[in-house]
Amino acid sequence: MGEKIGNLEPQKVFGFFEKITKIARGSGNEKAISDYLVKFADIRGLIAYQDEYFNVTILKPATADMEDRETVILQAHMDMVCVADEGAATDPAKEGVSAYVEGDYIYANGTSLGADDGIGMAFILAVLDSDDISHPMIEAVFTACEEDGLIGAEGYDASRLKGKRFINIDTEEENNIVIGCAGGCRIDIPGKCKNSKEEGNIYEIGISGLAGGHSGMMIDRYGANANVLMARLFDQLLASKIEFRLGSFDGGTRDNAICASAVATVVVKKKQGKAFEKIVKSFADAVSSEYLTTDPEMKIKCKDKGKGKLEVMSTKDLIKFTSVIKLLPNGVHHYDRSQEMVICSTNIGVVSARPKGFQIQIGLRGNKDSMLEWIISSVTTVASLHGLTGDIRGRYPAWECDRPSDFAVKAQELYKSMFDKDIDVIRIHAGLECAIFTKKIKNIDAISVGPDMEGVHTTSERLSVSSTKREWEYLKALLKL
Ligand SMILES: [Zn+2]
Repeated sequence: MGEKIGNLEPQKVFGFFEKITKIARGSGNEKAISDYLVKFADIRGLIAYQDEYFNVTILKPATADMEDRETVILQAHMDMVCVADEGAATDPAKEGVSAYVEGDYIYANGTSLGADDGIGMAFILAVLDSDDISHPMIEAVFTACEEDGLIGAEGYDASRLKGKRFINIDTEEENNIVIGCAGGCRIDIPGKCKNSKEEGNIYEIGISGLAGGHSGMMIDRYGANANVLMARLFDQLLASKIEFRLGSFDGGTRDNAICASAVATVVVKKKQGKAFEKIVKSFADAVSSEYLTTDPEMKIKCKDKGKGKLEVMSTKDLIKFTSVIKLLPNGVHHYDRSQEMVICSTNIGVVSARPKGFQIQIGLRGNKDSMLEWIISSVTTVASLHGLTGDIRGRYPAWECDRPSDFAVKAQELYKSMFDKDIDVIRIHAGLECAIFTKKIKNIDAISVGPDMEGVHTTSERLSVSSTKREWEYLKALLKL
């Protein structure tokens, strides 16, 4: 372990980053970080507003040389995804993060780092704190609860903002200027089942080792989804002569993560155990071969748990449950070849079932609101065809941008002239708060930028020091553009 984070260059940026990482700021727990921002403004005599969502706005007048320039809105989110390895030194949700420098990277000790979006905040604080940077009037917007459905941005009152030029600092790759993103929502389909007790051979079926990943950024890998595979196996078993019933099913952790593992407990009629195992084995061979390139570590196993009685859902309900998953769209729904990107997708992220009921959670995304509407309708129709309802939650709009604005084009040229390297102007198939601000503020001209980081939302999250340094120089130049 090397240097102290606060001693890294640019010192102001890393100094604020270090302070921020020590404040626990999981989504929904933003009071402390929000109060820190208000205090920061008070100490420097800057006007600040805090709203009921704990969003904070800080105003800083233009420097004398740039008073005639148009106001710039700088925006970052204050919350972070808190995850920790077992036995990690700190609980990031309660004590904040303990971070260290190694080589060109900042890491956290066994937890997420919160560079998403702590580094965005640190950049903005460094601008607000400076007395040697030329800039126009700054409206700094720090939002709460971004990682939990963009709740802070959704509740933010943008009517007081005067700026039309908007820089969101929440992108994870230095060589991208983002000018569009996907909208999305989650749909929950709950179902009630009739239960009974069934005797026979009990088996536990496990599907594991899938690549998984973020349902927005990784959906274009066309990898396997363990919830779907398990339903496919049930479908085969239901079509065979095997009599089997379902006791439990658990797959996936979040609607926005591709389901990497699932486990189910079933009971099989006596004397059909061997035939059952054979079907599972041939299914495992077939799908392992289908996904050989995307999910080479896939494992499908069934464990014989011996003879016994199991509480199960009725066969009728099992057929219905399997049928819903079978018919739901999952994966890439629309791919735009010219832009080389996914425009619309769904992910059957979380499935759970017990003898008395089941719950299916699907994450949906669309870079066009109209396309998202269409796929929402597909999903709710599958539910209603089975006498179920799909509850739509946390819907947020797409940031639709058909062509790069003048600001985006100038920002691209600026980067090239500063670093003699190309930077891509892209749209992403994931959510950004720009989607909400571009809807709230008329004629807004927005871009999203940020330094290189990897593994966000995981315990291997890391932030590049050299990229942060370049991004700081770039941001200062963007303010003068
Ligand atoms: Zn973020």
